[in-house]
Amino acid sequence: MSARPVLLKADRLTKFFPLPRGRRIHALDDVSLTIHEREIVGLVGESGSGKSTLGKTIVGLHDKTSGSVDYRGERLPKAYRPADFRRHAKTMQMIFQDPYSSLNPRMTVGEIIGEGLAVGTSLSRTEIEARVADWLGRVGLEPGHMSRYPHEFSGGQRQRIGIARALIQGPEFVVCDEPISALDVSVQAQVVNLLQELQDAMGLTLLFIAHDLSMVRYVSDRMAVMYLGGLVEIGPATEVFFHPQHPYTQALIASNPEPDPERERRRGPTAISGEIPSPIDIPPGCRFAGRCPHVMPRCRSETPALRPLSGQPARLVACHLHP
Ligand code: SF4
Repeated sequence: MSARPVLLKADRLTKFFPLPRGRRIHALDDVSLTIHEREIVGLVGESGSGKSTLGKTIVGLHDKTSGSVDYRGERLPKAYRPADFRRHAKTMQMIFQDPYSSLNPRMTVGEIIGEGLAVGTSLSRTEIEARVADWLGRVGLEPGHMSRYPHEFSGGQRQRIGIARALIQGPEFVVCDEPISALDVSVQAQVVNLLQELQDAMGLTLLFIAHDLSMVRYVSDRMAVMYLGGLVEIGPATEVFFHPQHPYTQALIASNPEPDPERERRRGPTAISGEIPSPIDIPPGCRFAGRCPHVMPRCRSETPALRPLSGQPARLVACHLHP
């Protein structure tokens, strides 16, 4: 994968949300991530780990507190203005988790899907309608659905509308923010298959955020694991899934529902316990120390850096067990 050109490089990206009395939420802390052309990077972690914040900060929906994002070597703005959104919408888009709340209920499906073309291009109304009709077909809906409203569709169909809206301008890079977690299990595979078909046909690069580690392994080239605002492990998806090295990744995978009852019975007692700590008062040292079964004295004071594993430059782990 690293043989492909770099598309996007986040460097020490940090996002704090200020609170009264000088306190702040450390939603994203010093995250560096490089994504290559046509690569699918799966991003996993518990709720509150910062996955969505990372996706939204990369595409400019959140201002950056510090750090940078370079796209094809061009430094993206620290804070987007409306003109930046219009410009970058042609190359970077986001598919949201909840197809119910992310579609404006007062707009027709045609207006929703075609909105980006209406504000960002000089295409005529007839040309936009033709493209919307084409995209409805590409996502498995019908051109006649253009005049209907979001409430007339099922959850899976609404996510297809969201996908068409995100892709109609022909972006290169798409953040898929838990695109299947609000859907019935029966339609999750259909939506994932649709995303894979479109990724292949359009040569898309995806940051695929999800809870389901089995799905992420199935979809992704590489898997990145987040904990409390930081990356703790990254590497080829199959390697990370079957040979996790960070104690948090190991616990997360042990907690992942196992469809085979026999493997579920055999997988042992290492599933994660306890709650993810508050992102407001971050203790020094390793952020996982309070839940880690291997915690050592130095873990309480020294923050482990994300470093390559010995002899495996593509595998990075942030843990003192892997110096
Ligand atoms: Fe556990 Fe220490 Fe590694 Fe953190 S650095 S994951 S506390 S062993």
